[in-house]
Amino acid sequence: MNRLQQPVSALAGVGAQTARRFEKLGIRAIQDLLFHLPVRYEDRTRLTPIGSLEAGMTAMIAGKVEFADILPRGRKKLVVRIADDTGFISLIFFHYSANQFHAFTPGALVSCFGEARHGYAGLEMTHPDYQIIADAENFALDTRLTPVYPLTEGLTQTAIRKAAKQALALCTHDNRLLIDWLPERLLQQLRFPALYKALQTLHTPGEPAACAALQNGSHPALKRLAFEELLTHYLSLRSAKNLNQSCRAPALAGDPIATEHFIRRLPFPLTGAQRRVIAEIADDCRKTQPMMRLVQGDVGSGKTVVAAYAALLAVSSGYQAAVMAPTELLAEQHYRNFSNWFSHFEAKAVLLTGQMKGKTRNAVLDALKNGSAPIAIGTHALFQDGVEFDRLGLCVIDEQHRFGVHQRLALREKGRQSGIRPHQLVMTATPIPRTLAMLQYSDLDISIIDELPPGRKPIVTSVIPSERRSEVISRINGWVAQKKQAYWVCTLIEESEALQCEAAEKTAELLAAALSDVRIALIHGRMKSAEKDAIMQAFKQHRIDLLVATTVIEVGVDVPNAGLMIIENPERLGLSQLHQLRGRVGRGDSDSFCLLMYQSPLSDMARQRLGILRDSNDGFVIAEKDLQLRGPGEVLGTRQTGAVHFKIADLSRDADLLDNIQEIGERLFREAPDAIQPLCDRWLGASTVYAEV
Ligand code: ADP
Ligand code: MG
Repeated sequence: MNRLQQPVSALAGVGAQTARRFEKLGIRAIQDLLFHLPVRYEDRTRLTPIGSLEAGMTAMIAGKVEFADILPRGRKKLVVRIADDTGFISLIFFHYSANQFHAFTPGALVSCFGEARHGYAGLEMTHPDYQIIADAENFALDTRLTPVYPLTEGLTQTAIRKAAKQALALCTHDNRLLIDWLPERLLQQLRFPALYKALQTLHTPGEPAACAALQNGSHPALKRLAFEELLTHYLSLRSAKNLNQSCRAPALAGDPIATEHFIRRLPFPLTGAQRRVIAEIADDCRKTQPMMRLVQGDVGSGKTVVAAYAALLAVSSGYQAAVMAPTELLAEQHYRNFSNWFSHFEAKAVLLTGQMKGKTRNAVLDALKNGSAPIAIGTHALFQDGVEFDRLGLCVIDEQHRFGVHQRLALREKGRQSGIRPHQLVMTATPIPRTLAMLQYSDLDISIIDELPPGRKPIVTSVIPSERRSEVISRINGWVAQKKQAYWVCTLIEESEALQCEAAEKTAELLAAALSDVRIALIHGRMKSAEKDAIMQAFKQHRIDLLVATTVIEVGVDVPNAGLMIIENPERLGLSQLHQLRGRVGRGDSDSFCLLMYQSPLSDMARQRLGILRDSNDGFVIAEKDLQLRGPGEVLGTRQTGAVHFKIADLSRDADLLDNIQEIGERLFREAPDAIQPLCDRWLGASTVYAEV
């Protein structure tokens, strides 16, 4: 084992406890320390005259102690006043020992580093890092910037600095330990430093002049690492694709009588775009290489029926199909749709969700294992341990952006049996710009449904302040009187589902009190599956007029008679998410409306963003404009869990690096194929097990 791959506990001063703390930061091997970069740097290389300090400045100063006093008033504290030729400042300590107090004898020379703030008597620094200088002749300032690392509880800067220094020293000592997998020619072309040099600069920056570039992320040392990381993500997806090409899949030619019958019995004719995409899928499935196709199509473009067609290809070729949806609500709806569309077929779908227990669950598992259930629809419960298929020929993943990239790749592995992989179809409504798609979908071929079913009218969207709530409520009355239905969506910034549900419960109560003639029901993520199902059924059958919901209805839910949606606090959600939500309406052939009811005051940015939504019904346009307004980092924000997570790269800061990735990635496959696996190991670690055959 390479010394860098040894556990951190092999370093001096790192015991079992410290090692556990490092682990919380994702640091296990010594090498991980190298890639755990400082979040910022402190400049202790020069002294700032005390007289030129201003509140808010963080600086290194030196001065003589004028007096040190313990002030008993209020919270007991030690106050030390120091001064140089230009001014004075007070150092404040709430925790101190008697020894510390006595060391501050008047006249003693003290250097300290901290942030100056306004205090009781002029500027002060609270708990600065300080040092009493015994030998003024030999006092020397740091020559390098001081790195400040991200910490976790119980870990100190000193501990992590020492460990990082040792890790770096190992590489200095033996330059074969840390291999730079990027070819030298490439580094020269991009003007990037070599790996060791870059890490050295980042952990122990030499010239203080580089401070600004390091802090704002424009320094070539940082850019190089970000580039390597982004490139590696691309490489891993492309390797997955290459690997896939060497795998075998069952040829799903389908039974033309069955597929024709299916299309003829649908309640609508397929759109041209649907037919084109279906043909692309059929072409893929006929081959003995696994299909890996992404179907991108705006909300309401009719992706579900395309999935059903693909499932039929598998089933009529004697194989099973599995369809995975991100929420139980959506899985249940797909289950009902499939059951309708396949009602005149022998092929029956079964539903499997995480909430199913006991006998029902066992019956489904048996049917999947012995092959008597040709189509399985469910949540990710479909791919958990204990679920076995007899002859799985196709996996469909709906709303793929709700699943992580690596989760998707892992699922592909899961479906593999004795060297045969099922075909895979993933579907998403969330358009992402081309450069970012490359980091997310490079393992896939892409089909686009760029046409909505005919007769859809654009949704009329308005942006209104919550002060007009009562007006909105009376509008619901009028709407329901016309025998139409509506949604009221409650959002909360808290990620906590419990809080979201609670808020929705309150809203439902208030609305019920205000709208006595309206049949109101509540739906949220914490309800039992059967309960949700009953409510959705009742809403579908128009036994409910107004459905109060959390964002659980964000994806998929389809009730054409519900043409009015009120979204509370839309300013808190991403535009793509809002567009998805809004896509629940506008599914019938009459006019539909979406009211974005914001909390005043609205920031400029928020106003502009809601304006984008009001002015466009096109998911691609919305995503593109949102990107211009906020940059890629924000657009692929944390809410969108399908986004890749990076250790060092930051898409809003490093967007400039994306342009080259694809071309350079392809070059690496040709010119340095040996570099690819080690790079994946370095940056993706254990999450790349799917790359193993
Ligand atoms: P998506 O998943 O792409 O958002 P869905 O598959 O839920 O969209 O389809 C939205 C609605 O449009 C559903 O009610 C579906 O039955 C209907 N639909 C799908 N294709 C067509 C079509 N070609 N013509 C008319 N309606 C269609
Ligand atoms: Mg859908």
